[in-house]
Amino acid sequence: MPLMTRKIPTHDASLPAVELENVTVRYDQTVALDQISFRLNRGDRVAVVGPNGAGKSTLFHAIAGVVRPDQGQVRIYGSVPGGHICVGYVPQRKAIDWNFPVTVTDVVMMGRVGKMGFLRWPARHDREAVHAALAEVGMSAFADRQIGELSGGQQQRVFLARALAQEAELLLMDEPLTGLDMPSQEAILTIIDRLHTHGITVMVASHDLNQAGEQFPLLLLLNHRLVAYGPPARVLTTENLMAAYGGQVHVVHTTEGDLLLTDTCCGGGHDLPLPELAHAAPPVVQTVQHETVESMRPPR
Ligand code: ADP
Ligand code: MG
Repeated sequence: MPLMTRKIPTHDASLPAVELENVTVRYDQTVALDQISFRLNRGDRVAVVGPNGAGKSTLFHAIAGVVRPDQGQVRIYGSVPGGHICVGYVPQRKAIDWNFPVTVTDVVMMGRVGKMGFLRWPARHDREAVHAALAEVGMSAFADRQIGELSGGQQQRVFLARALAQEAELLLMDEPLTGLDMPSQEAILTIIDRLHTHGITVMVASHDLNQAGEQFPLLLLLNHRLVAYGPPARVLTTENLMAAYGGQVHVVHTTEGDLLLTDTCCGGGHDLPLPELAHAAPPVVQTVQHETVESMRPPR
């Protein structure tokens, strides 16, 4: 018999997996989120896109219950976020201390704490859940390695395993693909896709409009306020992107359609060498000096 049992909040499956109603979050004078309202259904896969400083991380903090909104309500299956063990939240890489001496197994086992209770040793079924989760993301061979020794893509896979071991119903991943090579990005996207079969609702922050539009059935375009939410074809219009990116987006008319160039890594919105880019074969992602330039064609 377990030494400690914990009452897991039950969810009303008839309610939206995530519901925000007029959520406003301020940091001193900065309005990070401005009256955000939207709903996600169980199993939805949503990319949260928008420029640097748009409030993507703050949105995840509010949904994970790390930040309390100044106004409005966040509900997860009808309940407030705090105390929900069903939310798996993976912060941005730069927010994690990678020197912390823990093994891959430890990281995934931490996902079980909510199920185990703090003062209990892991039981056999906890260890089995950890092994199964690591196998699912193809990381079994790394179980005893220190998390800090792994590549960025492997670390993200371990965090996905942690969410699986946690039996998370809602997974929030803050820019999990940033800085990863293409094969690692594809491996992560494949796993995220598969979470669907577990009925997990997934929100992934991204600053890559192209990839988000190609890989996610729903986009949520943010710039403090909610600019647009829906399928990529409805969200990625020139009008919406101008509203979200303002001076940071340049529209270049080419023979094949409009090319939208966004400056994604510097908040200042630097001018880009437009003529060269306009004449290049339409790039998916091009690096110009130290700036990442993305392009995409909006639906006509
Ligand atoms: P994103 O993740 O889209 O880059 P953030 O949510 O990190 O955006 O930031 C939204 C806005 O809130 C920015 O203007 C940022 O400077 C500000 N901000 C974020 N976190 C804090 C904080 N802890 N204290 C003060 N301002 C913050
Ligand atoms: Mg962020």
